[in-house]
Amino acid sequence: MRLIMLGPPGAGKGTQAKIITERYGIPQISTGDILRQAIKDKTPLGEKAKRYMDAGDLVPDDVVIGIINERISQPDCAGGFILDGFPRTVAQAEALCESLGLMDAQIDFVVDLNVDAKFLLARLTGRRVCRNCGQMYHVEMNPPRSSGVCDKCGGELYQRDDDREETILRRFDVYSQQAQALKTFYEASGRYKVFDGAAPIAEVSVQILSALEGR
Ligand code: ADP
Ligand code: ADP
Ligand code: ZN
Repeated sequence: MRLIMLGPPGAGKGTQAKIITERYGIPQISTGDILRQAIKDKTPLGEKAKRYMDAGDLVPDDVVIGIINERISQPDCAGGFILDGFPRTVAQAEALCESLGLMDAQIDFVVDLNVDAKFLLARLTGRRVCRNCGQMYHVEMNPPRSSGVCDKCGGELYQRDDDREETILRRFDVYSQQAQALKTFYEASGRYKVFDGAAPIAEVSVQILSALEGR
C-alpha cells in the first residue's frame, strides 16, 4: 500500500504515519527527517537545505524530488510506503506521479488531516522529538512517561530548531499557499479523504485505519 499524509505543520502526519507503519509494516518516509539527518551529518544536501528550513521555507522541488526518487526505489519500499511531508507542491505531486508510473505503481490513498489553525501553534511549540528514534511527543497533550526521555527507546527528547513561534508562523503561510492546489490535485483521484485531526491521537488512528481497511 502506498499512502500520502497531507496536512498543515502540527496536524499529526508523523504521529499517524508511525502508527500506520506499525500496523502495515511499510516504511515511513519523512522528507523533513531525511533533511534534518543530512544537516546533522553536514552533507552537501544538508548544507543546501539548512537555510530554507531555518527560515520555514520550502526546500527547492528538485532537491526533495531527488530525495524521494532515490528513497522509493529502495528494496524496503517494494511493498509500499507512507509519505509524510511529501508532496508539498503540485510540482512535487506531478513528479511523484511520473516516478510511480515508471515503476508501474500508483498511490492507493491520500490522508488529509484537517486541524483548525488555533490548535496548531500549541501543538508545535510543545512538540518534542526523540533524537534516537524520531518518535514525537507533546509536553502536555502526549507526554512521555518520564520527562525528556523517549518511552520507546530511552533516547533524549529535543525541540526542533524550527518549532519556534516565528518560524512556525512562516511555515503556516507556506502551507496555505500550496494546500488548496494539492488538495485539488488529489481530490480528482477518488482516493483522497479528509480526517478530523483535532480528535485525540487514538481516535484519529481508528478513523484512518478503518478507512484503509474498507478500501
Ligand atoms: P506533523 O508531522 O503533521 O507536523 P506531528 O505528528 O509531529 O505533526 O504532531 C505535532 C505535535 O502534536 C506533536 O507534539 C504530537 O505529539 C502532537 N499531536 C499529534 N497528533 C495529536 C492529536 N491528535 N492531539 C493532540 N496532539 C497531537
Ligand atoms: P512539519 O512536521 O512541521 O510538517 P517537516 O518535518 O515535514 O515539518 O518539514 C520541516 C521542513 O523541511 C519544512 O519546513 C521544509 O523546509 C522542509 N521540507 C520537508 N519536506 C519538504 C518538501 N516536501 N518540500 C520542500 N521542503 C520540505
Ligand atoms: Zn526514541
